[in-house]
Amino acid sequence: MFVDARQIEQNTTLRTTVCIVGAGVAGITLALQMQRMGIDACVLESGGYKPDEDTRDLYRGENAGLSYSFADGCRSRYLGGSSNCWGGWCRPLDPWDLERRDWVPHSGWPFGLDELKPYYERTHDLLKLGPHNFVPAWWEAAIGRADVRRLPLSGENIRDTISQFSPPVRFGKLYREALASADRVKVLLHANVIAIESDAHAGTVTHVSVATLCGKRLRVVAQRFVLAAGGIENARLMLASNRASPAGWATPTTWWAATLWTIRG
Ligand SMILES: Cc1cc2nc3c(=O)[nH]c(=O)nc-3n(C[C@H](O)[C@H](O)[C@H](O)COP(=O)(O)OP(=O)(O)OC[C@H]3O[C@@H](n4cnc5c(N)ncnc54)[C@H](O)[C@@H]3O)c2cc1C
Repeated sequence: MFVDARQIEQNTTLRTTVCIVGAGVAGITLALQMQRMGIDACVLESGGYKPDEDTRDLYRGENAGLSYSFADGCRSRYLGGSSNCWGGWCRPLDPWDLERRDWVPHSGWPFGLDELKPYYERTHDLLKLGPHNFVPAWWEAAIGRADVRRLPLSGENIRDTISQFSPPVRFGKLYREALASADRVKVLLHANVIAIESDAHAGTVTHVSVATLCGKRLRVVAQRFVLAAGGIENARLMLASNRASPAGWATPTTWWAATLWTIRG
């Protein structure tokens, strides 16, 4: 079901099993899975059903490095997240995408591609893709047209790859009805998570603090928390949550663990 956080009584505490921050691609995918598994979940989404200027302003930031109009101008801060503006290109990651690179500080993921493989097939239905096959020769044969041929590449330094296109799926539109009728999942709109709160030693997350743009405050207590606010916002939120530890939640191990627990379940 959907709830407008602006209508909730000031300083309310909501209790749930899994609290998901953000209703974009990751958040909605997890919420649908929680519903299927019969697990109570509360999704906290900053925006509403449609884009609005005031919420979008929260994405404002400076772009350093390559010139690219991202920050508030490009990302979408409302139900469905950046699936509202994504292009739809899809293909699985390669093993080296997750590896540590000596020349890139803090690079490398705490798991390899094998951890993700079992889930790729399921994304095809979610994203309305074709068969779970990314072998160029297979597609060349399946398309079977004389004018659609692979380039005759030779050597090991260059290879061809296949991407598939999602229509592209806009998660907030396609899955809105499923979320509206979900009895296990409560999606709070206009609910900005402003801090991840912990015990005094920053060892255990106790709750998240939420604010609306009209001044409402509430908090959500849960057994598990999943950050699904987008790559940049997850980091900003962890760094800003520095009440118990000056560096904030700079070590995301706890979050990976929580996320994997949720997906595996
Ligand atoms: C222009 C563009 C084109 C793209 N094209 C492609 C493509 O072709 N192929 C591809 O694979 N990927 C593409 N992407 C990337 C893809 O859209 C993202 O990887 C994907 O949306 C990330 O999903 P997410 O759930 O992590 O974050 P998002 O989809 O960004 O969702 C995050 C959600 O969290 C909410 N939120 C943020 N902060 C808070 C907060 N503090 N409290 C509560 N809620 C919050 C936001 O409102 C949003 O709804 C593109 C992205 C953009 C911007």
